[in-house]
Amino acid sequence: AHSSSLSDADIGALRGRIRGSLLTANDPGYDEARKIWNASVDRRPTVILRALGAADVIQAIRFAKEHHLPLAVRGGGHNIAGNAVCDQGLMLDLSLMKSVRVNPSTQRAIVEPGATLGDVDRETQAFSLVVPTGINSTTGIAGLTLGGGFGWTTRKFGMTIDNLVSADLVTAEGTLVHASSSENPDLFWAVRGGGGNFGVVTAFEFALHKLDPQVMSGLLVHPLDQANALLKNYRRLVAEAPDELTCWAVMRKAPPLPFIPKEWHGREILIFALCYAGDMAAGEKAVAPFRALGKPIADVVGPHPFVGWQAAFDPLLTPGARNYWKSHDFVGLSDAAIETVVTAAGRLPGDECEIFIAHVGGAMARVKPDATAYPQRQSHFIMNVHTRWRDESQDDRCVDWARKLSAATAPHAAGSVYVNFMPEDETDRVELAYGVNYHRLAGIKRRYDPDNLFRLNQNIRPA
Ligand code: FAD
Repeated sequence: AHSSSLSDADIGALRGRIRGSLLTANDPGYDEARKIWNASVDRRPTVILRALGAADVIQAIRFAKEHHLPLAVRGGGHNIAGNAVCDQGLMLDLSLMKSVRVNPSTQRAIVEPGATLGDVDRETQAFSLVVPTGINSTTGIAGLTLGGGFGWTTRKFGMTIDNLVSADLVTAEGTLVHASSSENPDLFWAVRGGGGNFGVVTAFEFALHKLDPQVMSGLLVHPLDQANALLKNYRRLVAEAPDELTCWAVMRKAPPLPFIPKEWHGREILIFALCYAGDMAAGEKAVAPFRALGKPIADVVGPHPFVGWQAAFDPLLTPGARNYWKSHDFVGLSDAAIETVVTAAGRLPGDECEIFIAHVGGAMARVKPDATAYPQRQSHFIMNVHTRWRDESQDDRCVDWARKLSAATAPHAAGSVYVNFMPEDETDRVELAYGVNYHRLAGIKRRYDPDNLFRLNQNIRPA
C-alpha cells in the first residue's frame, strides 16, 4: 500500500517514536491534512507526520533520509508553489505547533512554526505589541518569515526578518541548533530570507514594538476608469508618506461587500487600502490627502482594531480556490507601468482575480542588501498578479493572462522578485530573487545541507 521502499513495519516503528500523529492514505484526516491553501495543488504523500515538537521533527528528518523519501515541510500551507505537500514522500506538518509566548517586559515573543499571523497578532496585541507580518491572517508565520515578510507595519518597523532575534532549527543532520547574531551567525543570516533551505525551524524569537490596538485604517474604493490619474497621484503621495503610513493599491472586480453600493458589485474598481501604524490624530492627517483624491465610491477609512484590520482581506483570500501568481519588484512606478497594469485590470479573467501593488520601503529600505539573505531593499512597490478561479477548465486561460501581464510589466520592473510570491514553475527565478546574496547562500547550503534534503522549496543548490 505504501511506496516501494516503505513497509507497514517501518511506518509502525516511526509511529512509536513520535509524540504527534502519523497519517497514511487510509487514516481518517489524511485528506484534510494534505490540503493546502492553493487548491491547484493536489498531492498524496505516503506519510504525513503531524509533529508536536522538535523531537518529532528530528524523527521525521531521520526517517526521510533513511528511506530516501522526498521531504515536504508545512507551516501555514499558504505558499503558492505548493511545496508544503509532496507526492509519495513524507509531509512534515507543523501546523499543530501553534504556541505563541509573549514576554511583555522584554518585548520578545517565542513563536512555534504552526502559528498563523492571526495567532501571533492576537497574543502580541493583548499587550499593545506587534511584530510586522503580512496582510492575510491565516498565512503561516513560518514560511512568511523564512522568505522575508512584509505588511502593514513594515515601513515603520522593518520586515518580519528584521525583527527576528533568533531561531531554533533542526538541520539536515538531524541536529537541533540555535541561530542568532552570536551563535551560528551564518545560518542566522541565511534563514532571514533563504526559505526552508537550511533546516526546519521549530521556534522563532521576535522583537516586538509598541502599537495601540486601534489604528487609522481602511479602504477607499474608486471606479477603475479613474485609475490612471489616481495611481499617478498615489505615486506622488506615497513618495512623501511617513514610515507609519502604508497604502496598497488593489485592482479587481468589486466583491459584494455591504459598504460598496450594489450597482458597483462585479464591476472593475481600484482600491486604496491604508493603514497608519501610529498615533490616531497623526494618522487622520496622514490619510487626508489620499481621501481627497477623486470621488470615491466608498470611503471606510477610520479607527479600526488592528487585529481586525490584519484580517480585513481574509474573506477574499480563503483556501479552496485555484490560484496562480506572477510578481515583480518595482523601484518606482513609471507611467507605462501604471498604464499597462490598469489596461490589464480592465480584462481580468475572473471575478476573484486581482492585481495588487504593495507599498514597501521605509524602515525596510534602510537595511543593507547583504545584511540578511533577503536582498531587495530598494523597491518601493511589489506587484502581485493574483489569478484566482474555481473551475479546472479555466486553468490555461487564467495562467496565460497572468503570464502575459507579467511579461508586459517586466520591462518597467526592477528585475527581481520576492521569493514568497513565486509559483512552482519559476525555478529559474531563484537566482534573481537572491541577487547579490545567492553565491553566499549556496555556500552556506553546501555546509548545512550538501545533499539537498531540503529541496521542496524555492531551491538554493549547494555550491
Ligand atoms: P507553507 O506553504 O506551509 O510553507 C512555505 C514553505 O516554507 C514550505 O514549502 C517550506 O519550504 C518552508 N517552511 C515552512 N515552514 C517551515 C519551517 N518551520 N522550517 C523550515 N521551512 C519551512 N507574504 C508577505 O510577505 N506579505 C503578505 O502580505 C503576504 N500575503 C499573503 C496572502 C495570501 C493569501 C497568501 C496565500 C500568501 C501571502 N504571502 C504574503 C506569502 C507568504 O509569505 C508565503 O506564501 C509563505 O510561504 C507562507 O508561509 P506558510 O507557512 O503559510 O506556507
